Amino acid sequence: MTVYDIITKKKRGEALSRDEVRCFVKGYTEGAIPDYQVSALLMAICLNGMNDDETCELTMAIAESGDTVDLSEFGALTADKHSTGGVGDKTTLIVAPLAAALGCKVAKMSGRGLGHTGGTVDKLESFPGYRVTLSEDDFRRQVREIGVAVIGQSGNLAPADKKLYALRDVTATVDSVPLITSSIMGKKLPSGAKSIVLDVKYGSGAFMKTPEEAEILAENMVKIGRLAGRNTAALITNMDTPLGFAVGNTLEVCEAIATLRGEGPPDLAEISISLAGAMAHLTLGIAYEVAVERARKLLYSGAALKKFKEWISAQGGDVSFIDNPDKFISAKYKKELKCGTDGYISAMDAEKIGLAAMELGAGRKTKDSEIDYSAGIILAKKTGDKVNAGDTLATLYSSKYELIKEAEEALLDAYKFSDKPREKEKLIYKILL
Ligand code: URA
Repeated sequence: MTVYDIITKKKRGEALSRDEVRCFVKGYTEGAIPDYQVSALLMAICLNGMNDDETCELTMAIAESGDTVDLSEFGALTADKHSTGGVGDKTTLIVAPLAAALGCKVAKMSGRGLGHTGGTVDKLESFPGYRVTLSEDDFRRQVREIGVAVIGQSGNLAPADKKLYALRDVTATVDSVPLITSSIMGKKLPSGAKSIVLDVKYGSGAFMKTPEEAEILAENMVKIGRLAGRNTAALITNMDTPLGFAVGNTLEVCEAIATLRGEGPPDLAEISISLAGAMAHLTLGIAYEVAVERARKLLYSGAALKKFKEWISAQGGDVSFIDNPDKFISAKYKKELKCGTDGYISAMDAEKIGLAAMELGAGRKTKDSEIDYSAGIILAKKTGDKVNAGDTLATLYSSKYELIKEAEEALLDAYKFSDKPREKEKLIYKILL
């Protein structure tokens, strides 16, 4: 078999065999197949798709290209969650301790933010002392003792995806359901959890713009997760507006702490409860509705907050910041964005809000940029709210005053107004259990 033959087969719309899929992933990862041949193959996959067997083989080849974590000592209790990326998405900070309080074992590897979306590891680093790297033994010990540990992704997690994703990014081949599925699931499977709950987002701040597109991706990921032997479920959720009101690392941590105290925004609490409920449903075999009600009780009883403190403390973070969030360093400069009109907010562009937060210093423009943990945005109003001229729409925070001016213009551009009220969008479009 030659790479030329594999490209030709896919160009004709034929299914690749397992050996053919493995051959190109291995050859490309090892540097034996050049970019131009894999580019042609990726474009053929984009145009002609892949069936379930091919997608599953591609996912497994990516998953097996690097390190894997062995969580077998925890049996069927391990549960993980993955969000396809959003703005203001701090759910892991709430869901991880909540799922642990429910009885799941949460051994999680999380990523950093890039572009307009945030990353859990950056948020956790807002806690002075928090260690995002643990030895495998310490990682497992912490999961054994308190039920939850969250670290950064190992440098050798799914190296095949690193190369393939970089190539897709520059060859207009990102938006393919089998390629996205294999890329995301190829990074989730090596983390070792037996149950995986996916939060597949759609809307202005997400990769998939419509619920229908998100549903196709979610169905595919659930199918591949199950074919790979994992209990898999998905929630398809709205990302037309940021989750909660806070966007930016420390600001989001404070909002997550408020939510763990039972005082957070309803949308953030609801998604977190549903995700933790789905994890408990898959892991413990209890009915989803029962698991959700249990999760709600544990969030509002303070049990998840207690677990959160145990977790942050075990990883070296200073928990006095949880009892007293005023201790977090706040941005040197802040400015309120004022509304120039009377009416209603008819739409918000969550991606533009994420980019404005990035401009303020909350995110990285390149992989190596330093972030300003205190930078970000607190929204005062969201889609559907009534506004009057002079009302505060949001407050911008940054350590550099000169960044606020540009971000302010970008942020204002994210709002659309109308003189009529509009119905709020459903938060959870569908749940695939
Ligand atoms: N996120 C990923 O990790 N991979 C994709 O292909 C798309 C989004």
